[in-house]
Amino acid sequence: MESQGLFEENKVKINKKNYFISVVAPAYNEQDNIYPFYERVKKVLDDITDKWEIVCINDGSKDKTLEILVELNSKDNRVKVIDLSRNFGKEIALTAGLDNCKGDLIIPIDIDLQDPPELIPEMIKLWEQGNNVVYATRIKREGETFIKKFTAYMFYKFINKITNINIPRNTGDFRLIDRKVLDSLKELRETHRFMKGLFSWVGFNQVSLPYVREKRFAGNTKFNYWKLWNFAIEGITSFSIAPLKFATYFGFFVSLFAAVFAIYIISKTLIYGSDVPGYPSLMVTILFLGGIQLITIGIIGEYIGRIYNEVKHRPLYFIKNKYD
Ligand code: UDP
Ligand code: MG
Repeated sequence: MESQGLFEENKVKINKKNYFISVVAPAYNEQDNIYPFYERVKKVLDDITDKWEIVCINDGSKDKTLEILVELNSKDNRVKVIDLSRNFGKEIALTAGLDNCKGDLIIPIDIDLQDPPELIPEMIKLWEQGNNVVYATRIKREGETFIKKFTAYMFYKFINKITNINIPRNTGDFRLIDRKVLDSLKELRETHRFMKGLFSWVGFNQVSLPYVREKRFAGNTKFNYWKLWNFAIEGITSFSIAPLKFATYFGFFVSLFAAVFAIYIISKTLIYGSDVPGYPSLMVTILFLGGIQLITIGIIGEYIGRIYNEVKHRPLYFIKNKYD
């Protein structure tokens, strides 16, 4: 029995892969998740290869996240820590990690253990079959409210309708990408970064891997509804100018309606003469048009604001310290 166990062990060793894996995890106030995350990821990676790193990005945390990460780095220097100069938000934090990892295969993942690292071997299998991107699609979301699921559903439906890239539904940043994809991705330096969209936009062979999304291990989500709403607008404006077209067509539509209405009023006046009343309809028309004008100006503003931010060409982030 024992010799068989040894044999099994050797077999695993012989089968170990020769490529370097980078797991990239942004962290913002995640002190209680770091060690459990590390333990689970380490176990999975050790089974696959001896060449791996976990790149953790401290996104300006206010709790003990950085201290714990640095401590972990001193114990196991395969855990690299990038300490950003302040909180830049998840998309930028992830970008910082992607810019600073050296793997042949790169896996962005959340540090709260909502994305099960045990999926990584399956991702690698799919990659070996010739896919460049293996994205994990949630078939079930544990611990999320109905409203969150419903709004997420509506968002994906909408964004896929108005953009011509395919942003997969129920898919976060958890995925495996290979070096080729990462190098392409690194050329996209826009300030407004909707990572899921960028991952799709680069193309290559992409395949979905279904999984059940777990509850957060500890702590709370950093995304409230206001943030999610803004995130959705970011996604839409980053990948589509359809709202601008909507403004134009809506303008045409209202003008057409106004023309028909004008003909009606002129004919009515010619036939029946003019009567003074008409205040309510006048008021409604003015308010309606005023509203439409403000909305369309707002839509234009959303884009102009983003142009403004992009033309500044600021660096995406600053690194305070690196622990290699
Ligand atoms: N995160 C980050 N910076 C932020 C907000 C979040 O790096 O400003 C990280 C966070 O630590 C976690 C991941 O992004 O690893 C996803 O965040 P969260 O779990 O709050 O989002 P949810 O899973 O609820 O969508
Ligand atoms: Mg989470």
